[in-house]
Amino acid sequence: MENASFDVIVVGGGNAALCAALSAREQGAAVLVLERAPVEKRGGNSAFTGGGFRMVHHGAADIRNIVPDLTDEEIARTDFGQYTAEDYLDDLGRITQYYIDPDLAETIVRNSTDTVHWVRGRGVRFVPNYGRQAFNVNGRFRFFGGVVICANGGGRGLMEQLYKATEKHGIAVRYGAQAKALLRGPAGIEGVRILVNGVEEVIRSRAVVLACGGFEANREMRTRYLGPGWDMAKVRGTRYNTGDGINMALEIGAQSYGQWSGCHSVAWERYAPDFGEVELPHSSYRHSYPFGIMVNADGGRFVDEGADFRNYTYAKYGRVVLQQPGSFAWQVFDQQVKHLLREEYKLRGATKVQGNTLEELADRMQDVHPRQFIETVREYNAAVKRDVPFDPNVRDGRGTAGLAVNKTNWANTLEVPPFEAYSVGCGITFTFGGLKIDTATHVLDVEDRPIPGLYAAGELVGGLFYFNYPGSTGLMAGSVFGCIAGREGARHARGAQSAAA
Ligand SMILES: Cc1cc2nc3c(=O)[nH]c(=O)nc-3n(C[C@H](O)[C@H](O)[C@H](O)COP(=O)(O)OP(=O)(O)OC[C@H]3O[C@@H](n4cnc5c(N)ncnc54)[C@H](O)[C@@H]3O)c2cc1C
Repeated sequence: MENASFDVIVVGGGNAALCAALSAREQGAAVLVLERAPVEKRGGNSAFTGGGFRMVHHGAADIRNIVPDLTDEEIARTDFGQYTAEDYLDDLGRITQYYIDPDLAETIVRNSTDTVHWVRGRGVRFVPNYGRQAFNVNGRFRFFGGVVICANGGGRGLMEQLYKATEKHGIAVRYGAQAKALLRGPAGIEGVRILVNGVEEVIRSRAVVLACGGFEANREMRTRYLGPGWDMAKVRGTRYNTGDGINMALEIGAQSYGQWSGCHSVAWERYAPDFGEVELPHSSYRHSYPFGIMVNADGGRFVDEGADFRNYTYAKYGRVVLQQPGSFAWQVFDQQVKHLLREEYKLRGATKVQGNTLEELADRMQDVHPRQFIETVREYNAAVKRDVPFDPNVRDGRGTAGLAVNKTNWANTLEVPPFEAYSVGCGITFTFGGLKIDTATHVLDVEDRPIPGLYAAGELVGGLFYFNYPGSTGLMAGSVFGCIAGREGARHARGAQSAAA
């Protein structure tokens, strides 16, 4: 079956896709969005996010430009810090061990603030993320870790507004439409073959933007590319990102790029469901480990829980948990830090045990070597630099000395009962390997030549993240490259149309 034709088809229904669709439409293109999910599950991983955007800013005045209803009182009691282009580039380099494609990094950073303004212009409201990115110390909030703003209503709020804008601008969206293959003719891309309710259709277009995510929800690809054990990871977000866009492009000669064996993965509720539930997107988060210790089945610590702010370590510690015996760990806290635990720790569904003594706690953490666990806590307590004051807002240097695995910051002793332990496994967020693009988002072939009419944005772009990821860069990168891809796709379609006339 063959359908009407469009200037630009956007494959995917998340943040990168809708930014591409809106930007193409603004260039006058006739746009179709193909979303594999049904309408009630639309929005991909973007809908699961906290809505955080990592952007360049120079303090309160820049934040107020994005959040105009910020009051003078809020400004007075907040230290937003600043996050310069140099800070951002340094973080992207340092966190990815300097493997990030420098041109793509530069494109994200230099376009970050303007793109947030552009997204805002499409109806998305932003607010400072006081709850997740700042701590209140002595009556003053201080933002740590480079991220200040998030979309009002989190990822669901973001996607709701972007879908509203899509509707307002007359962009067609087909739900339950799975793109299966790209059509390529002598002059370049000619459309997409899709599957709807088991029936194949062909839809013609002059350009295609691929924005349909990585392969984190595909067990088979996970195990093939990330390695043994990854079949057991829980998927934090959508079940629909199974690598289709990457595979379709590789089939017509696109170049694979980036760290195919790498992914973003976190410590996650051990008995979470296999896939995320968009109605409860945050219930399985276990991000407060910098304030306690993590132990494995042998009863020992295995990682520096306080190596850096959570934003700079959380995305690589899921893999570390997966690599422990039995692929699980326990996060242990006492009453001194309980008030710092994120709200998800209090939700039903957390695998939690409590004890009035460490012995009682050890007894309840049934799959952990009890004597070794108690010995680990004893050694850890003795190694804490008690003379250094604790401050969750800065890298406080309150570490441990002399342990095989030292803790660098936020080391509090575990001595005020009742003690609490939470069991965690590995939750995968998204994969790092994907397609090679240039800074205009053309998908490149193996000789680095653009495939005419093919563009990509979002999680399926390779070359951005290696080994680790600075929190809240995913939405930012998706919006930056999505905007560019839509604009470039529309221009290409216009050119192709004039050539044909
Ligand atoms: C729990 C969680 C919290 C997160 N928090 C943040 C945060 O606060 N800030 C941040 O920057 N990042 C965050 N991330 C990462 C972020 O979600 C991603 O980087 C970003 O959303 C990727 O956007 P995307 O548009 O590329 O992909 P997605 O939003 O995943 O969209 C992909 C879309 O493609 C569709 N699709 C897949 N295959 C096909 C096909 N064959 N045909 C048609 N459609 C298809 C899917 O249904 C989906 O709609 C978080 C991720 C998770 C899971």
